[in-house]
Amino acid sequence: MLRDRIEQVEDRIQRAAQRAGRQREDITLIAVTKKFPPEIIREAYDQGLRHFGENYVQEFEAKHPTLTGLADAKFHLIGHLQSNKTRIAAGIFHVIETVDSEKLARRLNEAGSSLEVMIEVKLSPEDSKSGVGPQELAALAAAIRACANLKLTGLMTMPPWSDDPEQTRPYFRRLAALAREHGLARISMGMSHDFEVAIDEGATHIRVGQALFGPRPKL
Ligand SMILES: *Cc1c(COP(=O)(O)O)cnc(C)c1O
Repeated sequence: MLRDRIEQVEDRIQRAAQRAGRQREDITLIAVTKKFPPEIIREAYDQGLRHFGENYVQEFEAKHPTLTGLADAKFHLIGHLQSNKTRIAAGIFHVIETVDSEKLARRLNEAGSSLEVMIEVKLSPEDSKSGVGPQELAALAAAIRACANLKLTGLMTMPPWSDDPEQTRPYFRRLAALAREHGLARISMGMSHDFEVAIDEGATHIRVGQALFGPRPKL
């Protein structure tokens, strides 16, 4: 069943890439496994997936010890990071996609290991609590680039919810433009219901949960 869902998502990615005139290999599928038990990560790994997204540091900290032997798996933090969890996060994630303050960047840098980071950008004032506004992006990018242990590779966003992907397209377009403007190659945007539009607008990383794993368990 997971295999079928992966195949369906893979088909959708390939068709979207083709329509957009893009290469499939320029798009990374991040399997979002929040609220699922660690076994599902191993199962997805066995089916060939290598990138995984988790939202909560504590939840993934609990799963992490059981996930031994997944040699080239890459774990992305895609949920808000509190500054008192930076040391733990730096130890268990390969990519922190949600850096949104200099304080967070400084703390991650002080954790001492080299770490890929992205900046979470907030493109609508009302919808989400985390993320920096576009006008604060230049200063934060400069601060992160001054951190020896951090490698800034891209931007991430979580647009206001809409079940119509065309409503979300302007946010995707804006994030891609900001990434170009700031010399950042990676663009993390698009979820189960709207990743085709995100790919059309230049997403290099799509974050897909329910389309791969079905409805999330209620915790
Ligand atoms: C849960 C989540 C996703 C995946 O959403 P689905 O609808 O399950 O594909 C992507 N990005 C973030 C930040 C999330 O929290």
